[in-house]
Amino acid sequence: MPPTGLPPYDETNIFARILRGEIPSRRAYEDEFAVAFHDINPQAPVHVLVIPRGAYVSIADFSASASEAEIVGFWRAVGHVAKELGLEAQGYRALTNMGPQGGQEVPHFHVHLFGGRPLGRMIG
Ligand code: C5P
Repeated sequence: MPPTGLPPYDETNIFARILRGEIPSRRAYEDEFAVAFHDINPQAPVHVLVIPRGAYVSIADFSASASEAEIVGFWRAVGHVAKELGLEAQGYRALTNMGPQGGQEVPHFHVHLFGGRPLGRMIG
């Protein structure tokens, strides 16, 4: 369950549907804990989303409720995907939006990986 005050997980959200294979995605990686796919509206030459297989609304929900195995597995997958996409040499940005003021649109926890060009400083 997400922390008090946040809406419960919605099984019909678009990333839940991508996980179930009901909506196509261009997958970059998948394992027991995580799935990565290319963002449909890329903001950089490489823009990939990494999501846990578990039903977590946001980073708050994930960090409070996921098992240690899920947390470790997920973050290992994030690093692995960035490396496999060739982002390590020049660097990249890993970002997660949480809740309304954080600009989160899809209520399934996800980490954006951006790379392939200088990204500059950014806060919104
Ligand atoms: O962090 P936030 O929730 O705002 O980001 C959602 C991201 O999901 C957006 O970058 C959007 O382009 C992406 N998206 C996608 N495939 C969909 C729907 C949204 O890659 N079918």
